[in-house]
Amino acid sequence: MNDANDSGTEDSRGYYRRLQSAIEELLILKGVFTGADVEREVKAMDSRNPGRGATMVARAWVDPAFKARALQNGSAAAEELGLAVGPLRLIVLEDTPRLHNVIVCTLCSCYPRMLLGLPPEWYKSRNYRSRVVREPRKVLQEFGTHIPDAVEIRVHDSTADMRYMVLPLRPAGTGHLSEERLAQLVTRDSLIGVTLI
Ligand code: FE
Repeated sequence: MNDANDSGTEDSRGYYRRLQSAIEELLILKGVFTGADVEREVKAMDSRNPGRGATMVARAWVDPAFKARALQNGSAAAEELGLAVGPLRLIVLEDTPRLHNVIVCTLCSCYPRMLLGLPPEWYKSRNYRSRVVREPRKVLQEFGTHIPDAVEIRVHDSTADMRYMVLPLRPAGTGHLSEERLAQLVTRDSLIGVTLI
């Protein structure tokens, strides 16, 4: 339903909104779930923000064993930190001095909502979705991110049953910072890969 809301004209969005409330009402009437369930779920959705992804990145920076587990199975590593990711497969992409990762969903707007919350508008735009795969270096420049030619840029296209999150490079000179302070350095856009830290 969220993805259907992400595109289309004002008219079609109005249509989907009406369809959504009609279905919601019907399912509540049929006893599939209650109004309180809906409220709880909406609250849970609103509580998801990039701070969750940042927590995971900071842990990976300070704990090499955790990082290895996160790269092997992102979902299980997130669950270790008490971050529920649900049935979707989470894949963590590690940046290195030679490789920079960027995520996109060329088809619609798949996004690691469980760790980053709602996607920014530009992530869902046709402009970003179509161009970042063709000319990633140029698109990143528009975000103010200059990736040297010697660094490979890899663009990862999300699919319906899995999500990507970037593990950015730990900035130099942060050896003395606590895990909590490190997490504060991690921005939403760096987890998508359009900016560096
Ligand atoms: Fe999608």
